[in-house]
Amino acid sequence: MTNTDTVDAIGTAIQVKELAQAGSEFVRITVNTPEAAAAVPYIREQLDRMGESVPLVGDFHYNGHRLLTDFPDCAQALSKYRINPGNVGKGNKRDLQFGQMIDAAMRWDKPVRIGVNWGSLDQELLAGLMDVNSRRATPWEGRQVMYEALITSAIESAHRAQEMGLDGNQIILSCKVSGVQDLIAVYRELARRCDYALHLGLTEAGMGTKGTVASATALGVLLQEGIGDTIRVSLTPQPGEARVQEVVVASEILQSLGLRVFVPSVTACPGCGRTTSSTFQELAKQIDDFLRAQMPVWRVRYPGVENLRVAVMGCIVNGPGESKHADIGISLPGTGEAPAAPVFIDGEKAMTLRGDDIANEFHQIVERYIEQRFGRGALAGS
Ligand code: SF4
Repeated sequence: MTNTDTVDAIGTAIQVKELAQAGSEFVRITVNTPEAAAAVPYIREQLDRMGESVPLVGDFHYNGHRLLTDFPDCAQALSKYRINPGNVGKGNKRDLQFGQMIDAAMRWDKPVRIGVNWGSLDQELLAGLMDVNSRRATPWEGRQVMYEALITSAIESAHRAQEMGLDGNQIILSCKVSGVQDLIAVYRELARRCDYALHLGLTEAGMGTKGTVASATALGVLLQEGIGDTIRVSLTPQPGEARVQEVVVASEILQSLGLRVFVPSVTACPGCGRTTSSTFQELAKQIDDFLRAQMPVWRVRYPGVENLRVAVMGCIVNGPGESKHADIGISLPGTGEAPAAPVFIDGEKAMTLRGDDIANEFHQIVERYIEQRFGRGALAGS
């Protein structure tokens, strides 16, 4: 999801493109004011001009019914609407305003994500369920009632949308919470109780390592159980950190589980007392950064390159063995070893690098390998 002001159409289009190039397959943007809604078609236009076709999802709260009605070009330019049932209106306005958004989805033939969030849960629904709970012989724990409110809000809203005529295949549900165990419990139950497509995400996961690990843990458990059709990782960027980090983490989760492949993988050892220099760490990072940065172009130029496996190892103990398992690998000299770095290609030792320019030379070897294996010549010859 972008964090630009949507009114800044150019700035938003640039960030959407960055997220798409990092691997995002749809990008959500905030649509919170008439000015933001008016900017949406221009953002789409800018992206199309840049050759970027990634679908845009509009994030609506409070006034989505009005914006989707008053700005038909916005409704048309978006590829999906996110509706938060806790924020569509109160009392008798709730059904009416929710209905207006579903009407827009049907008019423009768009899917909707009914996205419930425990930070903005429908308070009337929650109060009703608390009431029911208080009359139980053995009342549930408060947490259990909250789970029930999240799930009920999502499923009842989806049923209401279907009663209005929206196809069930056009509905995706999410119930986001910020605790790992809560998320797992809620989605297991949600998956048990409905057949709608599910969007996973640990909301407000936090910053850096904490947010990354929490998201990977929660989503990993659910995805492994076959729960979830789309995912988003919600990371608070650290000062100076790129917005694309959450896309990098999301794609790594899917790639680690073997569900999708987005970028070539770089296997690197953690280093130990046998490595007293940082050479292999630097080389592993350089190679990883280089491969990732090239992917927007390489996806087109070198079909299948995302399956490449590179190994950068720190010494002779596991270096040659791990390098042989990769498509291309290098085993750098550890402390006390001869200053030579054998390179393995397709499991065979191909050469040994020596001297101060090992990093550059290995870089070039990787590029040549990619060109030979995934380039047009390779395809023509196969
Ligand atoms: S490969 Fe060598 S340097 Fe790397 S962790 Fe193993 S023993 Fe240590």
